[in-house]
Parts: sequence; C-alpha cells; structure tokens
Amino acid sequence: MRVKETMLDLVPYQPGKPMEDVKRELGLDKVVKLASNENPYGCSPAVKETIEKSFQDLSIYPDGYARQLRQSVAEHLGVRDTQLIFGNGSDEVILILCRSILSKDDNIVTASPTFPQYRHNAVIEGTEIREVPSVDGVHDLDAMLEAIDEKTKMVFVCNPNNPTGTYVNDEKFNRFIEKVPEDVFVVSDEAYFEYVAADDYPDTLPLLEQYPNLIILRTFSKAYGLASLRIGYGVAHEALIKAVDPGREPFNTNTLAQRAALAALKDQQFIRDCFEKNRAEMKKYEGFCKEYGYKYYPSQANFILIDFNIPGGEVFDRLLKKGFITRNGEALGFPTAVRITLGNREQNDQIIKELKHISS
Ligand SMILES: *Cc1c(COP(=O)(O)O)cnc(C)c1O
Repeated sequence: MRVKETMLDLVPYQPGKPMEDVKRELGLDKVVKLASNENPYGCSPAVKETIEKSFQDLSIYPDGYARQLRQSVAEHLGVRDTQLIFGNGSDEVILILCRSILSKDDNIVTASPTFPQYRHNAVIEGTEIREVPSVDGVHDLDAMLEAIDEKTKMVFVCNPNNPTGTYVNDEKFNRFIEKVPEDVFVVSDEAYFEYVAADDYPDTLPLLEQYPNLIILRTFSKAYGLASLRIGYGVAHEALIKAVDPGREPFNTNTLAQRAALAALKDQQFIRDCFEKNRAEMKKYEGFCKEYGYKYYPSQANFILIDFNIPGGEVFDRLLKKGFITRNGEALGFPTAVRITLGNREQNDQIIKELKHISS
C-alpha cells in the first residue's frame, strides 16, 4: 500500500464498545456509557430549541469562520475574535496545529501517559515524539523542559490530564512557560476546564499577551455536553491563529454545532450545576477509595482513575456485566486501573456498590 510511511504503525482510534453490542451480548436492558468523559446530565435545554429551528438550514453550507459563535466566545473569554480557531472538536484543532506546524525533522514533547491524539497526529507528520514519564500521574514539567532541544516545535500540557485527572498548578506552569524557548509552541489542553475546582489551577488566558507561543484548547464536548456535534476551539495570539488557519478545512464546523455551542455558552447556570454535582459525586468515589485502601489519582475533571491492584480488565468486566461501560486502564498505560467517568448520582451509587462487592 503506497500510503505515507508514517501511517504504517498507526491503528484507527479504538472507541469504547458500542452500547447496542454490549446490550445484545450481555442480555442487558440498559447500558450506561461512562467511558469517554461525556456529561451524564446531557446539555443545556436551550440547545434543543436551536437545533430544532435549524432544520430548514441543513441544505446550506455552514459559516466556516463561525462568526456568531466566534463573537460570543471572544466576549466570554475576554479575547479578540481574531485570537480564536474553531475545530470539529478540539481534536481537530490538534490536527490542524500538527499539520501546519510539524515536519519530519521536528520533535514534540508530551507527558506519558496522556491524551493520545498529540502523539497520533505528530506520528502522521513523521515527527519524533518525546514522551516524558509523569510522576504520580502529574506532568513532570522540569523533565519536559529538559527534553526540549533545538528541534522541538511543540510541547503539550494536558491540564487536567487525561487519563489521570491530575493538574499542574499555576506556579509550576508559569515557571515552565517562562523557560520554554519562545520559538517552541506550548499547547495547554484544557478540555476539562469547567470542572476544575483547584484555586491554584493556571489562569492561562492572561498569559497570552506575554507568550505569543501559547495555545489554549477548550471544547464543548465535555461539560457543555455537545460531544456528538463536534466543536471545540483554540485561543492564541492573533499572528499564530492567522498562520495556522489555512490548515483548516473551509467548512470544518457545522451549523448545528455552532448554534448549539452558542446556546450552551449562554447557559452558564447549567455549567455551574454540573460542576457542583460533579464535585459532590467525586467525593463519593474518593471516600470509597479511602475506605477500601485503593490508590486513586486526585481528579479535577469528571472522571477518576482508580488502581485496584488487579488487572484493570477484571474490574472493567465486572462493571460491564452490570451495564456500565468504563475504560480499562490497560489501554491507558495503567494496567491495574480503571478510568470511570462520573455518572449521575444513581449510577455512581450503583457502581460504588458493585466495586464494594468486588473488593470484599
Ligand atoms: C475529550 C478530550 C479532547 C477532545 O475533545 P473534542 O471532543 O475533540 O473537543 C481533547 N483533549 C482532551 C484531554 C480530552 O480528554
């Protein structure tokens, strides 16, 4: 097959098991997917109305520049609208950055384990990946800094990190970006921003003035509950956005996604409610781990990675039989752990009950 040589070692993204298959195979009436950190409370009710109203516009190409949404997000963040790039999910923004910035002779620096899309896209560009082991699930920024050399083009900081939920604090992040050479892009992937409770979580937006090499990624897929519509964005210095924007497809974000995101953004009460519920449910999992002596990674996101000291697949299978699809840590670099997206109260109570069964 005469495809790019860099494609040969890659496999397509492996999504969690489809819910319909699980239902059929296990003879279950109801299956709950808690594997991809989606919002268990859905999305703002305001989204439904705008989606219904958009029906008559389906035959028209979207506004590729997403002007209305752009304006609202710019106001919401307090940045200029020219500082934004929208993607078909922030996954696509990662792709656009990689295709517009990386070449064969470059390298990128990431933590390990972390979100796999940085590596995946960089591999396609033929770029070397320098993975720096994390310490207790937290990025080792000093070691990442040391891994940077004259061929480094981008450094990815996943904050909070997926799959651990851990974060790097403002002091560490500020010290880090100050030392990164100014011709190396620093990507701060903040997909779980809305869930963060820590007071010392980095406030990256004000840093954009000072660091033209900083790129912040956010998404409507997680707390905003719009994962199926695919919309996320990057925020950076105007010149950087201008330079990478031609790497974007003309109509990469669709009309429904843009309008839904606009409606969702206006409903900040929904976001606050989800935040509160998520923190309350997180406490239950932490309490369970403490009671049963399991190591867990303190999470600022809407998922928790728990180490059960037995193969993750065993815990995964037990939960699957009860109708809960979680993520086996074996595929995430944590062979004896399972990553559980926090569900609603009833779902979490059921899961914790089952985990107690497994433990006794
Ligand atoms: C989910 C996730 C994304 C991608 O989300 P999109 O749906 O593509 O916007 C990006 N980064 C991290 C760390 C994620 O967990």
